[in-house]
Order: sequence, then structure tokens, then C-alpha cells
Amino acid sequence: MKIASPSIWETETFYRKRDIIIIGSGFTGLWTAISIKEKHPEKSVLIIERNSVPTGASTRNAGFACFGSLTEIISDAEKMGWEKTLDLVGMRFEGLRKIQNYFNPDDVDFELCGGYEILNDNSALQKLDEVNEKLASITRTETTFRIANEKIEQFGLGKSEFLIENLCEGSLHSGKLLNQLLEKCHELKVEFLFGTEVESVSETENETEIKVGDNLILNSEKVIYCTNAFSSKFLESEEIIPARGQIILTEPIENLKLKGTFHYDEGFYYFRNLGNRVLLGGARNQDFETEKTTDFDTTDFLQNHLEQFLKEVILPNQDFKIAMRWSGIMAMGTEKTPIVKPVSDRQFCAVRLSGMGVALAPKIGEMLSEMVS
Ligand SMILES: Cc1cc2nc3c(=O)[nH]c(=O)nc-3n(C[C@H](O)[C@H](O)[C@H](O)COP(=O)(O)OP(=O)(O)OC[C@H]3O[C@@H](n4cnc5c(N)ncnc54)[C@H](O)[C@@H]3O)c2cc1C
Repeated sequence: MKIASPSIWETETFYRKRDIIIIGSGFTGLWTAISIKEKHPEKSVLIIERNSVPTGASTRNAGFACFGSLTEIISDAEKMGWEKTLDLVGMRFEGLRKIQNYFNPDDVDFELCGGYEILNDNSALQKLDEVNEKLASITRTETTFRIANEKIEQFGLGKSEFLIENLCEGSLHSGKLLNQLLEKCHELKVEFLFGTEVESVSETENETEIKVGDNLILNSEKVIYCTNAFSSKFLESEEIIPARGQIILTEPIENLKLKGTFHYDEGFYYFRNLGNRVLLGGARNQDFETEKTTDFDTTDFLQNHLEQFLKEVILPNQDFKIAMRWSGIMAMGTEKTPIVKPVSDRQFCAVRLSGMGVALAPKIGEMLSEMVS
């Protein structure tokens, strides 16, 4: 990036050395800054963001306030064991509670409208009681998941044999949540440099050097990478696989029956009502290799596939028009666990938040504030 040689005024203000510099202003960066400032108001914290608004996953997601569908939890427990799976579910659940307590739910459109999963075979149902038992200590209810087949017709769904309901889940407005977080950051005197891309980071004995342009290096005591899917250049040895999620949003639909947040095909498809519109995303599993990218384009193949899904499953026999199309970039790994750790005495990371970062980020912020203290 070409930046004019800084003046003495800039060097002593905007570009002065900070205690902590956070790279990335998505949910993770913002919650982390808030937790640090709440614990250590005396520390100076600067967030550097390469775009004019946070642009990765946080502003471009589906706005589900969720902590794991039945099939996802079963599959995670098979891959990572129950202990890790329950830790992760617990963290997400607590994260959602924190959002509800921290902000006025109306200010972020937080609504406990219910989370649903559509199943077309009954194998997961055999494990429903076992999963409910495991989750009871987290959700404080005996029946986190229940079979709600009677609602298939009520919601007007096609191609759906079984419906699982989770009344502890809901939806929110991701843009409004980011705005509230930004306001809180300003209140706590967190500083920002937007439109500034970090090119590289190095360390001397006494400080970190953060290169943001040919003529400009910023210094801090500590640096935290909150760059999620865009972290490979800083964290070469970590497994961080970018995963694009494409989304379509319909025009308003008269008498829309759908209400709530829905998962289909182990969470690869996700859809919800947004007022009287339908937001649908996913289907990455239809074109896995192409979607392993940090490019924000949408593809005809997946967009057509999503429209077809909308016709067959969500709005059978109903006309609709697509109003908007966009994509966001997630970060995945072999396991769903995020990477939250020190990289050296001065460098820390909180990346790879996979598909439920809305819920994870508040608790990750707290973990980092402990770590950098
Ligand atoms: C399509 C889609 C749907 C999703 N749906 C949901 C959902 O419904 N519910 C849910 O809980 N989660 C969902 N997720 C996942 C969730 O959005 C993410 O886990 C979460 O937003 C990650 O937040 P983050 O702050 O870690 O990363 P990001 O939001 O990606 O933020 C990273 C930031 O770092 C900045 N950055 C990167 N490199 C640099 C650099 N070199 N210099 C400066 N800045 C840099 C980027 O510009 C970006 O703003 C979805 C994700 C996608 C893509």
C-alpha cells in the first residue's frame, strides 16, 4: 500500500506506539478489544482493518444465533470426542447469552425464534435422547432438541421428512451487532485505522513491528491476529482453509409461512426468514474445491443451485424474486475448534472460527484478554 511519509503530527498521534494492536475488525477483533479495555482500561488498543468496513465473514453471514444442530453435534462428537464438542457448544451457548445480556436485544434484532433442522432419514433421531442428556448441563433444559414434524406443513416446507426444533436458538442482525460493538469500542476509547492493510509483522527484542506500507511501520508491545480466513500469510504453519459461503435473499413474499432459522444437510444449507423475505446460503458441498477461496465472487453454478433449492424445499409452489446475492468467507480446519493461542511472547491469534463465529467470538475475546495480560 502506498502511504505518504508520515509527518511528526501523525507519528505522535495516529501512528504512535500502542500497548496492543489487533489486526481485523470482525466480531473477534471487536469483542477482543472490548474485553481487554474492560479489564485494562489503561492499555492503549488500536484495531487495524484493511477495508472501510469489516469485510470477511462478520458482515456477510446469515445472522443465525446458533450453537449447533443435532446432526452437527453428533458428527463433531464422532470426530473430536464429547469433551471437546461440549466445550465448544458451551462456549457458543455462553457467547449467545453474553450478546443478549450485553446489548438490548432489540438493538441487534436478537430474537429467540427457534432453530430447526430438516432431516430426511431417521438415523440422527436414534441419538436424540443421548444428545439432550449431554447438553442438559449447558442449556439447562432436558429437551434442547425435540421432534416437531407438525411444523413442516406450518412452515410450508417441501422435501422434508423430519423436523427437529431447538427453542434455545434464534436470529440476529449481524450489521446492527457490529455497529453496537463499534459504538462500545469508541466508548472504551479503542482506536481504529480503517482502510489499512497489514503486510507483515516482525519482532525486535522490545516491540513488534507492523508493516502497513512502504513508508510506514507501526509498533506495539503485543499484536493479536483476528484475521480469520485471511491469516495464512501471518500463521503459515496453521491449518486455515478458506470456505466461501454464497447467499441469496428474496424480495418480500406475501404470507410467508417460514419463521425461524433452519439447517439442512448437516448444516451445509442454512436459511431463515428476514421479516417476510427468505435468506438462503450454503451448498458449499456441491462444489467444494471451487469454494475453498478467499475471493468474494458468486458463481452461476451455486447461485442456480440455491435457487433450485429455494423452489423445491423452502418455497414449493410459490413465486419469488431474488433481490440480492453476496458471499462471505469463513475459515475451516479438520476440526471445528478455533485456534486461540500465543504465537510468541508478543504475538497472539484467534482465527478459524468456522460457521458459528457470532456465538464464539464473545468468549474468545475474554480468553484473549486473559492471555495478553
Ligand atoms: C456466508 C456465511 C454465513 C455465516 N453464517 C453464520 C451464522 O449464521 N451464524 C454464525 O454464528 N456464524 C456464521 N458465519 C460465521 C461467522 O460469520 C464467522 O465465524 C465470524 O464472523 C468470524 O469473525 P472474525 O472476526 O473472526 O472474522 P472476519 O469477520 O472474517 O474478520 C476478519 C477481518 O480481518 C480483516 N483483515 C484480514 N486481513 C487483514 C490484513 N492483512 N490487514 C488488516 N485487516 C485484515 C478483514 O478485512 C476482516 O474484516 C457465517 C459465515 C459466512 C461466510
